[in-house]
Amino acid sequence: MTISLAELARYADGLLETASIPDYPNAVNGVQIYSPSPIRGITAAVDFSTRAVEGAIASGGNLLLVHHGMFWGGLEPITGSHYRRVRMLIESDIAVYASHLPLDRHPTLGNNVLLAKELDLQPSASFARFEDTFIGVRGESDIETAAIVTSAQRFARIHGGDVRTSLIQAGRRTRTWAICTGAGASADTLKEASTLGIDTLIVGEGPHWTAVHAEENDLVIIYAGHYATETLGVRALAQHLGEKYDLPWNFVSAPTGL
Ligand SMILES: [Zn+2]
Repeated sequence: MTISLAELARYADGLLETASIPDYPNAVNGVQIYSPSPIRGITAAVDFSTRAVEGAIASGGNLLLVHHGMFWGGLEPITGSHYRRVRMLIESDIAVYASHLPLDRHPTLGNNVLLAKELDLQPSASFARFEDTFIGVRGESDIETAAIVTSAQRFARIHGGDVRTSLIQAGRRTRTWAICTGAGASADTLKEASTLGIDTLIVGEGPHWTAVHAEENDLVIIYAGHYATETLGVRALAQHLGEKYDLPWNFVSAPTGL
């Protein structure tokens, strides 16, 4: 069976509801660079980067799936490193497909639901409103907050990251938690957490003031790394598409240290 980029992208756009999920303008969800050849293999990476492109070339495949796409840094001329990456892609006939919030919030392949699974937490509702959709998940538990930190630490270290937390009192328990991967600690999510009575918020990263706010409001924020918390979705999407179309797939680990 051969599968064209257009056909695979049509399926992925439907699966991820790309057309109806709002996102930041720079996300440019869907096909970002075209390849005329049938798809031979899929490489997933969190970020569009030189390491990701080199990984895609080395894999012998010709579709690079990323969470943060080619335009994530905003409008920039195709010069310097941007030019080198675009040139490598075109010379190697590699297409790029990006999925940001549609992948974050997906109910089975999403970063948020999969991070909950990694941490042994069962989501029962959604969290982190963005326009008319919800990106994250939340649920109830009765475990020591420190135990969640330990699981998050184990997970983050596999992906070259580490975990930071706001102040945690000894013996503290987590009864209502929420997850928003990536840059998940923000004025909006903290306000939502307070409205919903969330006591533990698990995110990728957030500004310094969020840790101060947490301590003042009986909230614990677990910062498990922007990169690490967003490794799950692209990997699951690549696996899903690989199995559906009988294509080889791989994941390029390219931790950023954040
Ligand atoms: Zn992100």
